[in-house]
Amino acid sequence: MGKTSQDFYKNPDKYLLKLENRIEKYNKSLDKDLLKKAYFFSFNRHLFQLRDSGDPYAYHPYEVAKILAELKFDLKSIVTALLHDTVEDGVATNCEIENSFGKEISYLVEGVTKLSKLQLPDKEVREASNFSKFIIAISKDIRVLLIKLADRLHNMRTISYVKEKKRKVNIAKETLEVYAPLAGRVGFQLMREELETLSFKQTNPIAYQSLNKRINYLNDINKNFVQDTIENIKKILSTDFHKIEVYGRQKKVYSTWKKMQSKSIALEKISDIYAFRIITRSKDDCYKVLGKIHMKWSMVPERFKDFISTPKPNGYSSIHTTVIGPDGIQMELQIRSIEMHKIADYGVASHWIYKNMGYKYSKKEIKENNKWFQDVIEIIKAAGGPRELIEHSRINMYSDNVFCFTPKGDVISMVKGSTALDFAYAIHSTIGDKTIGVKVNGNLSTLNEIISNGDQIEVLVSKGQKPQPNWLSFCVTGKARSQIRKSLRDHEQDEFEKLGKEILKNILLDVNKRATKKTLSMLINIFNYTTYKSFYIALGRGEVNSNLILETFVPKSLKYETRSKKVKNRLPIIGLTKGQAVNFADCCNPLPGENIVGILTEKKGISVHLINCSVLERFTNFPELWYELTWDTKSGKYLQTARISLTVQNKVGSFNKITSCISKLNSNIVDIKINKREEDFFYMDVDVQVADSKHFNDLLVSLKLEDAIYKVERV
Ligand code: MN
Repeated sequence: MGKTSQDFYKNPDKYLLKLENRIEKYNKSLDKDLLKKAYFFSFNRHLFQLRDSGDPYAYHPYEVAKILAELKFDLKSIVTALLHDTVEDGVATNCEIENSFGKEISYLVEGVTKLSKLQLPDKEVREASNFSKFIIAISKDIRVLLIKLADRLHNMRTISYVKEKKRKVNIAKETLEVYAPLAGRVGFQLMREELETLSFKQTNPIAYQSLNKRINYLNDINKNFVQDTIENIKKILSTDFHKIEVYGRQKKVYSTWKKMQSKSIALEKISDIYAFRIITRSKDDCYKVLGKIHMKWSMVPERFKDFISTPKPNGYSSIHTTVIGPDGIQMELQIRSIEMHKIADYGVASHWIYKNMGYKYSKKEIKENNKWFQDVIEIIKAAGGPRELIEHSRINMYSDNVFCFTPKGDVISMVKGSTALDFAYAIHSTIGDKTIGVKVNGNLSTLNEIISNGDQIEVLVSKGQKPQPNWLSFCVTGKARSQIRKSLRDHEQDEFEKLGKEILKNILLDVNKRATKKTLSMLINIFNYTTYKSFYIALGRGEVNSNLILETFVPKSLKYETRSKKVKNRLPIIGLTKGQAVNFADCCNPLPGENIVGILTEKKGISVHLINCSVLERFTNFPELWYELTWDTKSGKYLQTARISLTVQNKVGSFNKITSCISKLNSNIVDIKINKREEDFFYMDVDVQVADSKHFNDLLVSLKLEDAIYKVERV
């Protein structure tokens, strides 16, 4: 047991006063009663517990609270620090905390407890889960993360007391892999550096010792050079700037070690580069200082970085430049304002530390803070196995969002309910437009497949693909919908123009004419259009009546007879562009309710086929001709003609039975054709009007039940 902690055990009031004084330095309206209550709650509840060091347990939460007080945190965070281990150690319950300290503190304690509790056997899963827990917690209140970091910092400062070596190394490893990077992510560099140094000492003691020794040695022999250079820089700047601070930067053991590993260069090489930091009064001064420095010493171009104009995601901003200093020695300079310096050292915590106030991030603030969100995404990316991370976490922070991944593992966040096609559009509008298929987690899926958290989605594209109108019926994201609409509009014009040309060609063919310039100008004049294009589009849309065109060439009496069975445009089919010419394929005669598909044909616009029609085989290599269509079941009844082939007994009353059976089922006979008449049987085709496939099937069944009818088949 340490001397101080022994004293702490005996004189708790003295230590409470110390903490009080520390907080009062920046918080004049400190609620002393609340602090005292929390202090003694922790003290008494942990009374019979000891730390590995033999210290009374309450000394640990006290030290964590002190770290936060040094960082000028708000009182609720400090109270949370005092209470942070009570629930985890089972000496208090969440309920008790809430009753005694209120909802907010109870919530914070719960968050810290949750972060601490997680311990899973599998290393990878453990890391992923830790990360995800973090994400959940910090998304709600960033203080939970910062308190946890302070907790870890004190544990690392006292790690030498942990007796079991394996446990020691594991804690240090976890700190190095999880907590130190998180401190960095939120821009808390000082915390990160200390955590790294303390952990590295445990995970690789030999490397730590020798590096530390070497760095100290180099710092020692270079002391004069560093001091001289600081004076030198100050002199260069003194005429133009007041209150400029210049520091020589200390090498940190762990970051040096990492640099040596990643670049596989010797320590001497890294230590050759001296580093200095210049702190200015304002942002403008940063650039002025930079100009002065570059005029004096020549810069190394590829090492210049301006993080002021483009700050790092965690908010870090500064200018980095490397110059060739006196005697040809390379020097790295960081130039930043006081404000930037605070953020560089403390990151998100700089709000507390420098504003002398308990700054609290609200949920809304965090959500609106895009940079912060980007950070979270960075964390997810850095977690290695993004899919597992998502699977193991129950992310409820962005409960309106799902996270999914590109084949390369990039994270895309989408609104809940988004489909695979929305995902394609989220990647890029040109990818969305050309999508012909998707693979979700390696399996082919439909474009309207709803995305789940963690799905990995590969988009299959084809040059010939164009956006389909029915895509609008399932895409939910604004980006996809507006892009589809835009593409459809562009595409629609072309489509109508093409169709208009075809229609005109056919009309002219019937009267033995060709679309010469002369003919066209005449028509444009008659129908009052200014350009060929607008005329074609109008014709394609059906705004110009083709019969009227015909009448300009032939007298009314010789009126042309439509050759093909044209269908009205207002079909109960979803997926057609307004005004598009449509016909039902004779080969399969699709009925409402059946699965259908459209094929764009040169002469007739879109032909509607049954999805299993054998004719479709011919078009498999031309995906650009395919239209995804569905029947609109909501629109009113639409009667479609279907053909039935019947084999009927040749006897009196047979016909009557057929017609009455059909009319009993509320169907009309459109046409009857007798194909063959034999002694025993008639072979005939009957065209009937039906509402949908069910209606038709009912009809087939009741015809089959008639004893006069020998065979019933759909044609
Ligand atoms: Mn703790």
